[in-house]
Amino acid sequence: MNFSYRYRAEDSAVELPAADYIARFRDAQRIAEYCRACPSYGSSWGCPPFGFSVEEYLSGYVTALVVATKIVPEQEGLPLSEAGRLMRPERKRIEARLLDMERRIGGRSFAYVGTCLHCPEGSCTRPDGNPCRHPDRVRPSLEACGFDVGRTARELFGIELKWGVEGRMPEYLTLVCGFFHNAGHIVWNG
Ligand code: SF4
Repeated sequence: MNFSYRYRAEDSAVELPAADYIARFRDAQRIAEYCRACPSYGSSWGCPPFGFSVEEYLSGYVTALVVATKIVPEQEGLPLSEAGRLMRPERKRIEARLLDMERRIGGRSFAYVGTCLHCPEGSCTRPDGNPCRHPDRVRPSLEACGFDVGRTARELFGIELKWGVEGRMPEYLTLVCGFFHNAGHIVWNG
C-alpha cells in the first residue's frame, strides 16, 4: 500500500504587530466553545485547557508572523481520512522550522492544531494525568489560544478554508501557524 501522496505546498507569510493580530483576530470565548466541543479537548498537552494563562503566554511580543500553507493534492477526491497523512510532512517541516527559530532568536511558536506529531497516535500521556514526554517540542495552535484561524486565512491571505464533503478531501487543505517574536523582520520563504 502506498502511504505517501503527491501534492504541491505553498507557504505565504504575513507580519503584523502582535497587538493588532490579537485585537483583530482573537475571540477567546467563542473559539473556546469550539475547542470544548472537539474530541481532542483535554486529551493532548497541545490542546486546552492549559495550566497557564494564555494572555500571559501571548504577552511581551512585538510582532506576529503568521504563515499559511496551502496543500494541493495531485489526486482529486482522496479519502478525507487520509488528510492527516497527507499533511504530516508539511506539519513536520513547519514545526521543525518554528522550533529552530525559537532556539535561535527567541519567541513563541504556534503549531497547527491536530493530532500531536511526537508520540504514536493514541499514546498521549495526558488522559492518564502524566506529564508530556516532549514538552520541548509541543506547542499550542493559534486556535487553542483563541484565534479565529478561518478569518486569519481569509483576511490575511485570501484563502478560504475548505472542508471535506461526503468523506472526500477538498481541492486543497490549509495549515495556519504562527510565531510571536521581538526579532524585527523575519523572512519566511516557502
Ligand atoms: S508529545 Fe506525546 S505526551 Fe506530549 S502532547 Fe504529544 S502525544 Fe502527548
